Amino acid sequence: MGVWALWKLRPPALAYVLLVKVTAVVVIALVIATTPQPGPRALRIFAMLALTAGLVIIATSVSIHLRHEVRRNPWIIHIAYLAAGILTLPPNLLVLLLLGPALHGVLDIRPEPYRWMFTTAATALAAFAARWVIGWNHPRWEPVLFVLAGAVLLLVRAAIVAIGLRLRDPEASREGVLGEPIDVLLGIVAASLGGLLAVAVDSHSASALLAGPPLALLDIACQLPQWRRSAQHDGKTGLANAMHWERVARVELTRARSRTQPMAVLLLDLDHFKRVNDELGHLAGDAVLASVALMLRSSVRKGDVVGRFGGEEFVVLLPGADTDIACTVAQRVRLSTASLSVPAQDTDGSHRELDDLTVSIGVATTLRFGYELPDLLVAADAALLAAKAGGRNAVTVA
Ligand code: GH3
Ligand code: MG
Ligand code: MG
Repeated sequence: MGVWALWKLRPPALAYVLLVKVTAVVVIALVIATTPQPGPRALRIFAMLALTAGLVIIATSVSIHLRHEVRRNPWIIHIAYLAAGILTLPPNLLVLLLLGPALHGVLDIRPEPYRWMFTTAATALAAFAARWVIGWNHPRWEPVLFVLAGAVLLLVRAAIVAIGLRLRDPEASREGVLGEPIDVLLGIVAASLGGLLAVAVDSHSASALLAGPPLALLDIACQLPQWRRSAQHDGKTGLANAMHWERVARVELTRARSRTQPMAVLLLDLDHFKRVNDELGHLAGDAVLASVALMLRSSVRKGDVVGRFGGEEFVVLLPGADTDIACTVAQRVRLSTASLSVPAQDTDGSHRELDDLTVSIGVATTLRFGYELPDLLVAADAALLAAKAGGRNAVTVA
């Protein structure tokens, strides 16, 4: 399946991916053919780098597997020991070190093997470019060149990969092409650690093992954005979860109190949502929740904080909003909900547009209830119950 995915690429992306792979293979063949046999010292350094990296990858793979997680950025660890290899090994042993990511891709059963091999080819070309910068046969050990080699390794690799991703999907987001900002930082840390590892193995090859624990920690740090996202956001809607929303709301309320600025809270509950689940199933219900979340996000300003409070209950914090502004926003949200049309499947599998959604909204402001979050939420909840009791599809101010 994965190999077929390659042939499904748009022609420019396919041509580019093949060009990068063929170039990498040609360069690798040239390197192997032209570099003299390595001496025992280089072989010792290679063995210690490969052993350390292998042990770390096995240990972190087991740990990730036991925690039922998915490895988020497997490349960071490879960049670290490859950076050390670029500074300390002859080019043909550097080629051998590149078997690390290639093997990792094969053993880890990546969903799109062609993509992994493409990134491996990009990494190989970037590694050779970095080696060329510091001196092909006899690398010059100068701090400035170390930094330059690290920068070339990261930038050339990122550029080759980004062009491929852009050609593959011209509509892809910036983050989809360049990765998350934290990955840039992790890449820099990996390259720096690689530099330190090179200095260590140059004086004593066995000291590579000392880099094992920091390498493992770096590999685990790649999971951080995943952990942060799931700790703060709700998986179904991408909105802040209740706990994170409350934390942000408390901070905003403290700030608003010190500046004596007003603030409002909207508590929303979809009307008769159970019917959606009962008639169309829970997947359709989930699709409605995701659409409502998207609509909510686009209905408020950047500084407003939208959260999923519970099942089909949402909450919005409106910093700077007095009662009039809060009611205007609430009415806008109510009308947008009524005009939502969510594609869904009927129980018999036929397509259906769900377009009779309504929402009830309770509004509470600091002007009336002060800056304590529980007081505001209790007031907004009472207003929401009044909106439900009044016939639903309504906004009620506490
Ligand atoms: P009301 O107008 O009084 O609010 O009626 P309602 O049916 O919306 O209210 P009720 O609280 O009885 O039902 C809420 C439903 O939301 C019940 C539950 O099955 C559903 N629900 C809660 N969380 C989820 C979820 O994550 N996905 C889906 N599909 N349904 C959910
Ligand atoms: Mg409810
Ligand atoms: Mg409801």
